[in-house]
Amino acid sequence: MQVERGIRALRDRLDGARAAGRSIGFVPTMGAFHRGHLEIMRIARSRDEVVVVSIFVNPLQFGPSEDYQSYPRSFESDVSGARSEGVDVLFAPEPAEMYPHGAIDTRVDPGRLATVAEGAYRPGHFAGVATVCAKLFNIVQPHRVYLGQKDAQQVAVIRQMVQDLNLPLEVISCPTVREQDGLAMSSRNLSLSSSEREAAAVIPRALFAARAAAAAGERSCETVRTLARSLIEQQPLVRLQYLEIVDPVTFEALECIEGQSLATVAAYAGSTRLIDNVAVGTVPRPER
Ligand code: AMP
Repeated sequence: MQVERGIRALRDRLDGARAAGRSIGFVPTMGAFHRGHLEIMRIARSRDEVVVVSIFVNPLQFGPSEDYQSYPRSFESDVSGARSEGVDVLFAPEPAEMYPHGAIDTRVDPGRLATVAEGAYRPGHFAGVATVCAKLFNIVQPHRVYLGQKDAQQVAVIRQMVQDLNLPLEVISCPTVREQDGLAMSSRNLSLSSSEREAAAVIPRALFAARAAAAAGERSCETVRTLARSLIEQQPLVRLQYLEIVDPVTFEALECIEGQSLATVAAYAGSTRLIDNVAVGTVPRPER
């Protein structure tokens, strides 16, 4: 596995593979790998001939009071994790390589999708994500991009960008990998104390309760939401920010569960903000 820090060197390396007609799969990440990341790399490895993983904690997608500085970083163990999954190239640019003048003025604006659900609580976040992904996609020029369904709205933002801007690549969404008690794996779980970690399991429990209620025939989002929210509200170490039943494409809040919907949540355990989602309603389409 090659580790590349520079855009020029990465492009030189990938030009040869592309010219030889080899398919390139790309997994963008912010590092601090867990099994969720490694599973995505495995899926990419099974489908594409060249697998490129990026590690870049993108300042553009963090708000001024968010955790950019304290975001977990574990480069050495990430290198061994990626190597063990058979990744070909690990692209790990410094911020100055991606933003040579300190910042950039150009933004990809995901429109309304960036303002609802998660977007309502993180202004500018999805524009930051879409912008860095546009840069990374232009740098790597992959045939396929692999993302995690754990960040379902991020997948929707990227799918919309790819479609609206005619980017010549396919987006693959990979299933959420969970701990034994259901907590979605996240680099931010590293920041939880042991009591917060234990308490955080209420988040997937609430989502699974929402899914079970819908599977039992409940159609009222209000009823399903109230049930799921009340579970979280009973856990004193977890503070609910939002729990909504939304359309899986537009992320607009729904009143009635008809086709496939998503139960989506953000909650704080201590000062760590965690997000998760599950499909509710009709059986979800295969994720890939
Ligand atoms: P991050 O490093 O958190 O930006 O995540 C990089 C990629 O891994 C994103 O596409 C995430 O959606 C995905 N991801 C993060 N956690 C999980 C998980 N528990 N299961 C599956 N994919 C995940």
